[in-house]
Amino acid sequence: MLNDTYKHRGLRKKLVETIRAKGIKDKAVLQAINAIPRHLFLDSSFLEFAYQDQAFPIGSGQTISQPYTVAFQTEILEIKPGDTVLEVGTGSGYQACVFGEMGAKVFTIERQKKLFDKTKKFLTQFNYRIKVFYGDGYKGLPAFSPFDKIIVTAGAPFIPEELLKQLKIGGRLVIPVDIDSGLQEMTCIRRISENDYEKRLHGQFRFVPMLGKKAND
Ligand code: SAM
Repeated sequence: MLNDTYKHRGLRKKLVETIRAKGIKDKAVLQAINAIPRHLFLDSSFLEFAYQDQAFPIGSGQTISQPYTVAFQTEILEIKPGDTVLEVGTGSGYQACVFGEMGAKVFTIERQKKLFDKTKKFLTQFNYRIKVFYGDGYKGLPAFSPFDKIIVTAGAPFIPEELLKQLKIGGRLVIPVDIDSGLQEMTCIRRISENDYEKRLHGQFRFVPMLGKKAND
């Protein structure tokens, strides 16, 4: 792997221990965090922070999510090898690689053109099954649906109906839904039949907002 040193691997092991101590139990999630060189996803000026459990700026006013949050959303989804996953909010591509490392086939959408261009190119150096799309995450990707799992990695004002429709029966959607002053409630929706969905809440998080249709690219 490009520029992944002994030191980076040591820092990653410590990060995995931090996340485990915060309550993440899924071994496949921890293994994926351990395997992916997060320092490659950050601008070089932030290299020294790559293995702290924190979110960081990635340009275009966006962030790479905190590793614990990535692990938390991934654990809730119960990813299995071979799952098809739709991600809304490609950002740096780190979360998509976590799914890829776990054996999932990933379709990821980014709304900001600059980030889309940068990340699409960046991800070609990994051997994961990830397809990156430029578009509006509120609409999902009907042509590739239904999905086993759907994740939204930005704070959503509501649960988009289109995403619910694109979930397989038995599938799961994890989405942080706005509650108050920049805070979101982590919400997991399981589709239990054609017309029935079950909802569970998993505590409060803070995300950058999901952009509307008239986003400024
Ligand atoms: N998953 C990312 C990662 O691993 O780096 C972090 C995502 S960042 C917290 C949220 C991302 O969602 C940003 O890149 C933002 O541009 C994108 N976004 C916001 N609104 C969107 C929309 N309507 N459709 C698609 N992407 C959107």
